[in-house]
Amino acid sequence: MQYRRFGKTNLRLSVFSLGTMRYLASPENAWHTIHKAIVLGINHVETARGYGKSEEYFGEAIAVGLPVKRSQVHITTKIPPTPDADTMRRYIDESLERLKLDYVDCLGIHGLNTWEHFNWVKAKGGCMQAVHEAIADGRVRHVGFSTHAPLEIILAAINTDLFEFVNLHYYYFFQRNAEAIQRAFEKDMGVFIISPADKGGRLYTPPQTLKDLCHPFSPLELNYRFLLSDPRITTLSTGPAHPDELTEPLQVADSEPELTPEERTVFQRLENHQKAVETDKCSQCYACLPCPENINIPEVLRLRNLAVAYDMTDFGQYRYRMFENAGHWFPGMKANRCTECGECLPRCPENLDIPALLQDAHNRLNGSSGRRLWS
Ligand code: SF4
Ligand code: SF4
Repeated sequence: MQYRRFGKTNLRLSVFSLGTMRYLASPENAWHTIHKAIVLGINHVETARGYGKSEEYFGEAIAVGLPVKRSQVHITTKIPPTPDADTMRRYIDESLERLKLDYVDCLGIHGLNTWEHFNWVKAKGGCMQAVHEAIADGRVRHVGFSTHAPLEIILAAINTDLFEFVNLHYYYFFQRNAEAIQRAFEKDMGVFIISPADKGGRLYTPPQTLKDLCHPFSPLELNYRFLLSDPRITTLSTGPAHPDELTEPLQVADSEPELTPEERTVFQRLENHQKAVETDKCSQCYACLPCPENINIPEVLRLRNLAVAYDMTDFGQYRYRMFENAGHWFPGMKANRCTECGECLPRCPENLDIPALLQDAHNRLNGSSGRRLWS
């Protein structure tokens, strides 16, 4: 296992972190998963107030005993932004109680996703006051935020200088947040990548086309290598449902950071394939927004790109069905809400027929409604 400095927290975290949103089958399963992760070298465990019984099960595992000293495991919990300090004070107390801890190494503001959340964390006497009190009395050591927000909000949150680390989405198949990675690096913040296996493309069940293109590597392995070859990134979350699911990710935990010539060849093959396929490819410039119907045009067309180029229809459906169903975690209306008003058309440098492509995306990707893994 390799370890990297988590930005200005100065913690040295394993390049994989244990995410604890899926180990909830039983307290025993949680204990075995945590135990195995630590034995395999993971020294960062991440939970959240919102992950069902995750904090509680983790607290029980801590009470039974971890395989190493408490000081050798870095523990993060996450709490949603609140409009006032009192609610945050109560939430911090409740998390520490469930975890049976007197401090957490890191507290993440969970889901700083909207301008309203941004204003809550910026407000004097707001939720950050409670966080700063907890830092002052030693119950919290470091503070950061996790986000599913549009890039503009992420950059604004980084620029507040309130945070020491950021948890965000960034993958080979989703590089929209590249500027946020760079800004976080310039601010000496730790960078934690959320769920590369699942949000990165459901890469644990890749379609045959993608598998063939990635050969001799697996698509999941390549995504991990894409991320870990970037020295600005500290750690990647892996969220096993049971201990055996730790095996595949940790195969690359000791790899040399730099990409090998063979890996570069495969990434080039993926690029060439996307260019060669007739996809009416959206270049993800985001110039078409805003849409008066609040359709997230670039994200809909990214999912379409992936379905057309790499047969990633299953992943596209999973994400597309969250539109209109996941609130601020995945905002935007479905593509069939397009009224063909034409406002977006002159803004598209690729001259795409956006309404037609949206309709095609809807036909390919719509189905029964999706739901988030946790609430
Ligand atoms: S044409 Fe459709 S997608 Fe484009 S701005 Fe109008 S409603 Fe939105
Ligand atoms: S303007 Fe065109 S190319 Fe750019 S994101 Fe929108 S649809 Fe894609």
